[in-house]
Amino acid sequence: MSYTKRILIETYEKNSWQKEFIQAATEILTSIADFVDNNPIYERESVLERLVEPERQIVFRVPWVDDSGKIQVNRGYRVQYSSVIGPYKGGLRFHPSVNLSVIKFLGFEQIFKNSLTGQSIGGGKGGSDFDPKGKSDREVMSFCNSFMTELSFHIGAHTDVPAGDIGVGAREIGFLFGQYRRMKRQFDGVLTGKGIGYGGSLGRKEATGFGLIYLVEEMLKSHKNSIADKTVIISGSGNVAIYATQKAIELGAKVVALSDSNGFIYDRDGVDLAVIKEIKEVRRGRINEYIKYKKNAVYTEGRGIWGVKCDVALPCATQNELDVNDAKLLVKNGVIAVGEGANMPSTLDATDYFIKNKILFAPGKAANAGGVATSALEMAQNASMTNWSFDRVDAKLKTIMQNIYANIAQAAIEAGKPDNYVVGSNIAGFKRVADAMIAQGI
Ligand code: NDP
Repeated sequence: MSYTKRILIETYEKNSWQKEFIQAATEILTSIADFVDNNPIYERESVLERLVEPERQIVFRVPWVDDSGKIQVNRGYRVQYSSVIGPYKGGLRFHPSVNLSVIKFLGFEQIFKNSLTGQSIGGGKGGSDFDPKGKSDREVMSFCNSFMTELSFHIGAHTDVPAGDIGVGAREIGFLFGQYRRMKRQFDGVLTGKGIGYGGSLGRKEATGFGLIYLVEEMLKSHKNSIADKTVIISGSGNVAIYATQKAIELGAKVVALSDSNGFIYDRDGVDLAVIKEIKEVRRGRINEYIKYKKNAVYTEGRGIWGVKCDVALPCATQNELDVNDAKLLVKNGVIAVGEGANMPSTLDATDYFIKNKILFAPGKAANAGGVATSALEMAQNASMTNWSFDRVDAKLKTIMQNIYANIAQAAIEAGKPDNYVVGSNIAGFKRVADAMIAQGI
């Protein structure tokens, strides 16, 4: 039995209930199998055994008081996966679906993603099953204060630097940062995604969505195409989806559909981004409110967004939101490129289907790396006590995304699988981390 297969089986056995983590491990280990098995040093040094096991997993109680005075209890997590190329770095997710499996899959992906950026950032992820939706600002603050009271013992500007993710935006980062500062009596760059007035970076809010479009454009350009004049659909309507929409429109595309967890809107004239921002960023409302503003638009309840005809599809909501039937529908309707803004939004079958059908497919760990890359730029600004202009940050982001594309395309060619960016991303991300592990001993 090959080395990678043996480690995969051991990983299944040890983590049998963790289906999201097993899915991520399967995707990565399967796609690097030939590379790893042809380089026996990785087996000799037990690199895979060490890589699949997080350096540290912290699970904690988060008690807080709701507006009626009742004590509520949630569960908090921080998985510090790998610090071999830099301090742990990865977001915090607040969503009822969060459990250890979800945090481990996100942390595992993060190791390779952060490696692809070329920056000095290791992999980690955290969060809670707390749902900020429908809570008052006071309740969110009460939760964040309690969450950070425990988390503050485990993080630091050179140890572990969390950021936002689903359910954790500017408001939550503000509350979390305030509690860290009070607990530690220290003002430093321990979180990214901070407000601009207290250590945040211009361009961070836009970075994941903009970076996704920069990478997709690079992929299209290398196939003598462009996103200009293309019809685009984007799932979700949160941070990543909104700024992907903005950049796609700026580059001349028409974005006709967006969604949330209740349903999706279709606007054949192209969505009005100002209306979307008003609903989602200002009022924290639902996507169905869009049709009150735009009479030509249609709202459909449910997850049918992938049935909308398009040239480019960008899943930007959550894991496993696009299955093989959705992939078949997209291919039948003529999609030419898919870029993952979310983490692992396509199931393994859906990914295989796109690749077999020669659809240009940019996997999340490369396509959405712009967010964490810009977080690392925020860390650099904090460490040097400087503030860069939006244009400077955005130009760096663009260069990083272009380099990521060049590296994953090259790794795919070297693996004998040109245009297979899943293989390219995983090998390029793995090699840097594995070589650093070997160099540093155990
Ligand atoms: P937000 O919380 O801002 O938005 C999430 C969006 O996805 C919302 O529209 C939400 O709808 C929808 N969504 C969430 N869960 C589900 C679900 N179970 N089913 C259907 N729709 C759902 O999060 P982000 O935009 O920050 O993150 C989106 C994705 O991008 C995640 O996978 C995240 O890990 C990834 N990502 C984010 C980065 C960042 O910088 N923010 C960086 C890299 C990756 P609703 O409001 O109804 O819940």
